[in-house]
Amino acid sequence: KLGRHPTSGGPEKVAGVDRILAIASGKGGVGKSTVSSNLAVALARQGRRVGLLDADIYGPSQPRMMGVSKRPASPDGKTIIPLQAHGVTMMSIGLMVDPDQAVVWRGPMLMGALQQMLGQVAWGELDVLLVDLPPGTGDVQLTLCQRTHLTGAIVVSTPQDVALLDARKAIDMFGKLKTPVLGLIENMSSFFCPNCGHESHIFGHGGVRDEAAKLDLPFLGELPIDLDTRLAGDAGTPIAAGDGPVADAYAQLAAGLVK
Ligand code: ADP
Repeated sequence: KLGRHPTSGGPEKVAGVDRILAIASGKGGVGKSTVSSNLAVALARQGRRVGLLDADIYGPSQPRMMGVSKRPASPDGKTIIPLQAHGVTMMSIGLMVDPDQAVVWRGPMLMGALQQMLGQVAWGELDVLLVDLPPGTGDVQLTLCQRTHLTGAIVVSTPQDVALLDARKAIDMFGKLKTPVLGLIENMSSFFCPNCGHESHIFGHGGVRDEAAKLDLPFLGELPIDLDTRLAGDAGTPIAAGDGPVADAYAQLAAGLVK
């Protein structure tokens, strides 16, 4: 079981969980959490048993995006019962602390929280556990890659150079940690004007696809910059829970991810 020896031993499996996919980004604000919640919901709609672990310890967004706020129960004071939302089993450090309170933790405490969320949460039987990582290349990424059996990582980026620059660093880190990068997703790729339908490329377009080709990694797909996506995330019902072109795009991404 995870969580007993946070600083020793090799990678461990999370009981009952078939595969663990980390959703990563170099930069913050590129839509990693949005993509994580929507992929989770899309996978659940396809009949997968899905877990979502919000490991973005300093800025947990999943309680808001998945529309949950209840503190998870722990009947025996040890096992934590995860919450259910939109067909997804989920857990976030944001559910354990006051939402307006900043998490001011040093590395070891942070690792303890991560280990707890993996090892003490009663995830049950899952086909896939998605882990919404913090942005960048820090302690959480290191711990997760070294201490758990990650199937692989998916890197989300927006198309502009500054985001790609950091995405490259994240990919490089996964390489060093011997975690396979399963592919790249371009978020905020195109903008379709709701009035005239004109397509514009606010952050450019195709940068992530080109990067994937350069690095010889799969390009998994692109998602538009879309007002309804943002509104749905803020409202706690991910856009992938409804119908429409963005929900379809997520369904397609999800189908390609877990075959
Ligand atoms: P990250 O996890 O990378 O920090 P978030 O998923 O929290 O990014 O997204 C940052 C903000 O951008 C949120 O308000 C979110 O609703 C919004 N957002 C993310 N992706 C899109 C998109 N494709 N279209 C419109 N807004 C988006």
